[in-house]
Amino acid sequence: MRLVVDLNKCQGYAQCAFLAPDVFAMHGEEALIYDPRAGEEQRERVARAVAACPVQAITADGLDRTGGAREVSDGS
Ligand code: SF4
Repeated sequence: MRLVVDLNKCQGYAQCAFLAPDVFAMHGEEALIYDPRAGEEQRERVARAVAACPVQAITADGLDRTGGAREVSDGS
């Protein structure tokens, strides 16, 4: 999955790093580093991070900003 963090919006609250530590990490006090191509196994955690970010800075494909974790089915 692909994700983008708008670092102009990001205030370094670290909610995302707490909820999805394999994808997001704080670098110092305020700088966020993240994996823009997180694995699919991270989807649920990323969904929680998207929902938890106080400034809606995280956008991820297949996830909306308000729905939190959404069931993803490929129909198989
Ligand atoms: S939760 Fe949002 S504001 Fe906080 S560090 Fe993550 S992206 Fe930035």
